[in-house]
Formats: sequence, structure tokens, C-alpha cells
Amino acid sequence: MSQAALATSPSSGGGSGRPSPWRLFAANRLAAGGLIVLAAIAVLVLLAPLLPLPSPDATEPANRLLRPMSDGYLLGSDQLGRDILSRLLHGTRTSIAVGLSATLVAAVIGSLLGLVAGYAGGRSDNLIMRGIDMLMAFPYILLALAIVAALGPGLMNALLAIAVVNIPFFARNIRGVTVGLVHREFVDAARLSGKGDLSILLTEVLPNVLPVVVITMATTVGWMILETAGLSFLGLGAQPPQADLGSMLGEGRRQLFTAPHVSIIPGLMIFVLVMSINLMGDGVRDLLDPRLKSGALGRPSARTDVASDRAKAATAQEAATALLDVDGLTTEFRVGSEVYRAVGGVDFELKAEECLGLVGESGSGKSVTAMSLLGLVPSPPGRVVGGRVAHRGEDLLDVSYDRLRQLRGGSFACVFQDPLSTLHPLYTVGDQIVEAIRAHQALGYRAAHAKAVELLKLVQIPGPERRMEAYPHELSGGMRQRICIAMALANDPEVLIADEPTTALDVTVQAQVLRLLNRLRMDKQAAVLFITHDFGVVSEICDRVAVMYAGRIVEVGPTEELLTRPAHPYTRKLIDCVPVLGERERRLDAIPGLPPAVNRLPEGCAFADRCPQARPDCRRGNITLDRLGDERSVRCLFPLLSSEKQRVS
Ligand code: ADP
Ligand code: MG
Repeated sequence: MSQAALATSPSSGGGSGRPSPWRLFAANRLAAGGLIVLAAIAVLVLLAPLLPLPSPDATEPANRLLRPMSDGYLLGSDQLGRDILSRLLHGTRTSIAVGLSATLVAAVIGSLLGLVAGYAGGRSDNLIMRGIDMLMAFPYILLALAIVAALGPGLMNALLAIAVVNIPFFARNIRGVTVGLVHREFVDAARLSGKGDLSILLTEVLPNVLPVVVITMATTVGWMILETAGLSFLGLGAQPPQADLGSMLGEGRRQLFTAPHVSIIPGLMIFVLVMSINLMGDGVRDLLDPRLKSGALGRPSARTDVASDRAKAATAQEAATALLDVDGLTTEFRVGSEVYRAVGGVDFELKAEECLGLVGESGSGKSVTAMSLLGLVPSPPGRVVGGRVAHRGEDLLDVSYDRLRQLRGGSFACVFQDPLSTLHPLYTVGDQIVEAIRAHQALGYRAAHAKAVELLKLVQIPGPERRMEAYPHELSGGMRQRICIAMALANDPEVLIADEPTTALDVTVQAQVLRLLNRLRMDKQAAVLFITHDFGVVSEICDRVAVMYAGRIVEVGPTEELLTRPAHPYTRKLIDCVPVLGERERRLDAIPGLPPAVNRLPEGCAFADRCPQARPDCRRGNITLDRLGDERSVRCLFPLLSSEKQRVS
């Protein structure tokens, strides 16, 4: 057994779990740079009226077209002798104000239209969206020109034109998101609770689309400033003598060869402004994407990170022959400054053709244990920091990625809890099984198809030929789980990992699926690691049981013995929680208290706080998984069996 697993304290303690928004933002260097430049421009522009600068409109014909760095004119003067620096600051101020206002108007109107269209659906949706389509059918800038031409030139009208032509972007984006949301369960739940449409829109849908609105705003505001400048450049926006970046550029164009600085300076300002806004927009998007919020800025890699200096137990003699020998497996999640030791040194052995049950409360680390075996824990934040997973003597944590891919779906197959989320919604189940077969076997489509039909027969799907053409949503839950089992069996695995495969099914279907799994594992001679929280299921199918608590195995033994004579107080309590039909007087004891948080595990036995038998010794040191007879082990200083023995004697 590995002692290394609990050698270090699991938590660094203190600090908030997730990185602060600011840290996430700052991790994106370009975005932070954009923000700094933008902030500098904003400060200058806001302070412009207070700075000791001449009026932006004051002409001085004697000082026309002065070069930058001339006396009294830091950036030179234009064709009417106006101070370019002053015009630049005031012009930028105008451009930003117009761009931002246009964005706000477009965002509010467009999002409202999108929300209503997406939520109402049917005719209202059709009406609104066809209107939007008509707006989009006109060339974009022409439409803006036409609107300004109709309303007359001027900044206010340019603002309106830009806002109108941008409404479709918001409306389409928001409608798409809304349509995806209104059929989700939480909206149904809100409706069932008696909420009205307006209230659902405001409290359920809006908070979910708000990040999309903000992201769209952040990424379009730069574009809108450019468009405003474009209209002003053509003389349709700001009217003389008012300065904005576009009109400055347009006026400077005539002196492009004699005094290039007059147009280059506003041009540069437009470039820097729009660039910094766009970079910042990217950062805002990263910040608001909920998947990035979890603390990882990158995408999880295809394989769990394994610490190169991880602690391994000495290779035991029998390990080379065992089908699967897991020793001291330790998996952590690093979220911000917190370290969650989800799996804290797990040891078990899986013999050929046996079914080992892994039981424990929700959150005890069963799934993470199973996922760690094949490197399926997302990294970041997951990381295997210790242990060995020996499959016929080969350590799966050390094998090459190619070898791991061979094993995944080949020698090792998985069946998960929710078949609807594991099956691809857009492919027929037949194609998915064929794909699973061809990933590991050099078969043509026809041969694989025939094999897939065989597999469907094997898992007792009626009318297998016809069902091959079905999509996952057309099948019932039990049928879907059979499909997943068929896929798992496609390549005759040696080890089948079943993670709560029957939890989502009703009791009768659960019994059928269990019986099927049991028969198939005998037929196919596969070993099964069966994860569940249900002792009823365990007694049906498992040869041996390992009980998990707070990331460690606390008891292992043959099913029959462990269920009738549990040695660990936790196992005892778990068994007491199982209702028995016909025994009405039996007390259903919930275990008092809650499991410890895996980022703050106590010293000694993790169960001590909830254990009726706990003594002071239980809260000290590392308690090991000790043998108790031939086939049983227990991680307890005062196992129940010994006290029973004492009572008997
Ligand atoms: P179960 O025994 O119910 O299958 P799990 O193995 O899924 O429990 O989870 C064990 C612990 O690991 C839980 O405390 C859970 O919060 C944590 N955990 C699982 N996945 C992640 C993840 N991607 N990021 C952070 N923590 C995780
Ligand atoms: Mg689980």
C-alpha cells in the first residue's frame, strides 16, 4: 500500500478558490495592454476641456500647416491654423461618445428584439426575424448612407444610422442564444412554479444572455467607431467646425502630400483606439465565458497531466500478472489557490473476469478514480500526483499517448451515467457504433455495420436493423443505455468501467440492464469496475466491493461478507441507509453530518467526525488500509468485526 499519498497536507489553505476576474483578465497580456492604452486615451480625452489647450475651433490663418513640435503647437496645426492636439483630443472624445452611444442603442434594441423573438417563437419570431433579414439584405454601409441622406447630415443622424444597421447583429446573436435556453429544464421549472412570461424572461433568460450581449458589445464598439468615422469622412457625420476623427481625416486628405501629419495623426489615433478596444473585447470574452471562469484559461488536454515526480509504491511481485492493479492513485484539482484532493491514495486490484463494485456517497471520488485510470480527468485543473495503475504490468500513467488511445475503447471501455449526453445527438446510433468499431478494427463500413447489428442483438434491442437508423433522442433511456453498452463491448474489452450506468433509469429498466450487463460480462469474460452508490445494485452484480469515503477506500471485501458483516462504521451506516421492502419498522438512519471538503481533509480518519465509535486516536496520523482476514481489508483502528468478536466471546 502506498503511504505517500497522504504524506503532504492536502490543502495550501486560505485564499479564495477561484482566481479573481482581474487576474484572469491580466493573464491575457494583449487584453491587459489594450485596456491600459484605452484607459490612457480615456483619461486624456476626459480631461481635454481642463488642459491648457487652445479651443479646437479657433483658427489662426497665420500659423497654417505647422509641423509637429512647432512652437506652441505640439502636434502642429491644420489648414486653418487650428491646434491639432486640441482637435485630436476633442475629436476622439466625440468619436468615442458617438460609437459608444450607437453601440448601446443597437444593443438594447437588438437584444430586446432577439429576446422576444427567441422566447415567443412562432409567428412573432417570424415577423421580427424577417424584418431583421430585410435590414441585413441591404449592403451595410449603403444602408447607413441612405439613412443619413434621408435624415440629413449631422452627428446625431450618423449615430442613429450606425445603430440601426447594427441592430441585426445583436438581434440574431441573442435570438440564437435565447432559442437554445427556452427549452432548457430550468426554464420549464420556472414555468411550472407559476412564473409569468415577463418574469421568466427577466430572471431566467436575461441573466444567461447578458454575457453574450456584453461580449457582442465589446467586440462591435470598435467597429462602430470606425463606421462613425467613415460617415464623418464622407462629410455626413460631424459638420464643420466640429471635430471628430473621421472629419479630421477627411479634411486632412487634401493636404496629404504637402502636410501628411494633418491626416496621419487622426488616422493613427483611429488605429490605436480601435485596436485597443478590440483586444480588450477579446479579454472580456475570455472573462465571461463560464468555461474559462473555472480557473483554467486553456482547453483541457487530451490526457490528464501526470506529475513527473509522483510518488510510486514499490512494484509488488503479483502486480505483473494482475489484470489491473491500482496503487496509491492520487488525483488533485487545482482551482485558484485551492487544492482539492478528490482521490487521495486509492488502492485496489481487479482480477480477470471479476466484478468489483466501487461504492460511496456522491462526491466521494468514485468517478474521478475511474477517469484517472485512463487519463480522462480534465487537465487543467486535474492532475495525477501519485500512484501507479498497472495493467498486466504496464503502468497506464506512463504509457505513450498512442498506446493510451489504443487502450481507450479497446482493452478498456466505459459506460457512463447519462447516455443522452454521451451519445452524439446528430448521428444515428448505428453510425456511432460503427465508428466505435472502426476506431480499433480495420473493418470496412459494411463489415462494421453487420457487426454493429450483431451487437444490438446482443444487448437485446428489438428490430436491430431498424434501430440502427434511429437518433438518440428517438430512443428510451433504457434503450440508450443498451446502445452505450453495445458500443463499450464493440472491441471485446478486458475491463469495462461502468460509472453509475443504471442511476438514471427506473427500477424495472435498471433490473433489465443489470441482468444484461451481468450476462454479457460472463459471455465476454470481461472484468467490470462497477461504480454505484446503491447497495441493492451491488448485491446483484458485484463479486467484491470497495467502499470509498472522501477520496480513499475505507473497506474492501467479498460482497456477501461485507454486506452482512461490515467492518468499517461507515459501511455499516451506508448499509443501514438502504430501505428494505416489508420492513416498515426498520429505522432509516441518514448519516449525521456531511463528508469533509476534500480541500480541507482532517488528520487521521476522515469519517471520525460522523462516527459513533470515534476515539481520540482516530484523529491522529495516517490510518492505513489493513488486512482483516484473507480477503478483507479495512481502514479503521477499531473495526466493528473485532468488537463483535469480543461480544461473542
Ligand atoms: P462521485 O463519487 O460522486 O463520482 P466525483 O469523483 O465526481 O464524485 O468527485 C469527487 C470530487 O472531485 C468532488 O468533490 C468534486 O467536486 C471534485 N471534482 C470532480 N471533477 C472536478 C473538476 N473538473 N474540477 C474541480 N473539482 C472536481
Ligand atoms: Mg460520479
